[in-house]
Amino acid sequence: MEIRRRTFIGAAGLAFAGWDRDWRRLRLSGRLVLPGDPDYDARRRPFNTLYASRRPAAIALCATEDDVARCLEFASRDRLPVAARSGRHSYAGYSVPEDGLVVDVSALNAVRPGQVTEVGAGTSMIGLYEAVGAAGWLVPGGTCASVGIGGLAPGGGISVVGREYGLTCDRMVGARVVTPDGSVRWVDEEHEPDLFWALRGGGGGNFGVVTSFHFAAVAARDLVPFELRTPAGAEADVFGAWQEWLADLPDELWTACKLEMGRPPSALVSGCWVGPPEGLTPWLDRFAAKVPVVSRNLRPMDSLTAMRYYANCLGGCPPVLGNRFAASSRMLRRPVDPAAAVRLVDRARSGAILFDSFGGAIGRVRPDETAFPHRDALASAQIFVNGTGIDEATARRELAEVRDGLGAGGGYVNYVDPEMPDWRTAYYGHNYPRLHRVARRYDPDRVLAFPQSV
Ligand SMILES: Cc1cc2nc3c(=O)[nH]c(=O)nc-3n(C[C@H](O)[C@H](O)[C@H](O)COP(=O)(O)OP(=O)(O)OC[C@H]3O[C@@H](n4cnc5c(N)ncnc54)[C@H](O)[C@@H]3O)c2cc1C
Repeated sequence: MEIRRRTFIGAAGLAFAGWDRDWRRLRLSGRLVLPGDPDYDARRRPFNTLYASRRPAAIALCATEDDVARCLEFASRDRLPVAARSGRHSYAGYSVPEDGLVVDVSALNAVRPGQVTEVGAGTSMIGLYEAVGAAGWLVPGGTCASVGIGGLAPGGGISVVGREYGLTCDRMVGARVVTPDGSVRWVDEEHEPDLFWALRGGGGGNFGVVTSFHFAAVAARDLVPFELRTPAGAEADVFGAWQEWLADLPDELWTACKLEMGRPPSALVSGCWVGPPEGLTPWLDRFAAKVPVVSRNLRPMDSLTAMRYYANCLGGCPPVLGNRFAASSRMLRRPVDPAAAVRLVDRARSGAILFDSFGGAIGRVRPDETAFPHRDALASAQIFVNGTGIDEATARRELAEVRDGLGAGGGYVNYVDPEMPDWRTAYYGHNYPRLHRVARRYDPDRVLAFPQSV
């Protein structure tokens, strides 16, 4: 449903070489930050400092939806690279286009909690959890406090309660989107259903700039974060047992297995249970029957405290400092060879492979029901290489060795990897052709193009 069509000057018609880039034409009610402004450096920096040298032409700190529309009109007319930015956590720095316009929506962060919760696209994960938690609700999202919902939800949204409640995008029931023609559109199952479909797994940065989402929230229940310690030297057995364990877990149980790189490597099994802790014990016993467990650490808590715990915000959130890393992902549709995986982390210098369990509610959605295709995955594998003290090429080479050696295909678009082989199929599988058609319909002039745009 098109809510309002702005007076739009066709990109092809009026853009001409030498157009004087007069930023005053933007007339934002927010603020435009330009090179030379005292806060330009702080405002432009992506979370992944591997891309810290990237210099956008301007950063629009949007105060309203109308500002977002003005930015897209301006960029269309001037043929200026443009990208939406919410929480700045793009692995590849895609929200900071070199010489382009950053449409920063982080001030659009109002949350109206309820059974249907309205969430401004600039809301951080912790901002979301605090706002809905205080009202007795939960919207499943990522664990990192400062990740933005604007980038996370369109790509999927892996959470510690995902097997019980689905991906973040599975809870989406509508969204307001500004498309590159400057129109503000409400999308849901009935209005612009193709665009709504694409916004649930098609990846941030494509199709338009979301200004707010509506999510079906769940009533907050007590949760039990847990950690299992296993003996040093048993990493392959632990990871093998963990993969077997996934085969018949109840929806309430989500679990992760982290293989830490370096000599010697290490394995850590953790997870989250939805409900009273007694229900979890028999499932942990099943795991312990497969491999020795040295200690079990169960921490029952209410849902909001649990979200603060995972976000490292129990005593107040730490400052967002950024990190230098190269990262990628794979999707495990069947178990991988645990000994081979441990050999990979043993050879690698510094970083981790983090396996997150899928299945449950995530797996009950058809692969083409939303744009997120990986419904039959057993787990996702997030591969993270620490980039401190090494150049980008070395970090990428180390990353590629692990990614390509793992013995799994596919990939999660939110762990976007600028060198992912065959990225269209890896992220989107059979959904790519339909996504491409939607992108061409709403962005025929490719205003929102970036290296891995649909
Ligand atoms: C430390 C860390 C922890 C993470 N934890 C998790 C996790 O637990 N679960 C999980 O699923 N993912 C997780 N991620 C991945 C995360 O989902 C993606 O990096 C996501 O794209 C970040 O969104 P953002 O808004 O913070 O980033 P941005 O850099 O602002 O945006 C990312 C992409 O989305 C686009 N975008 C941003 N805002 C909008 C908007 N309003 N409309 C349309 N497009 C937009 C950008 O143009 C860019 O292409 C994590 C990432 C990091 C770095």
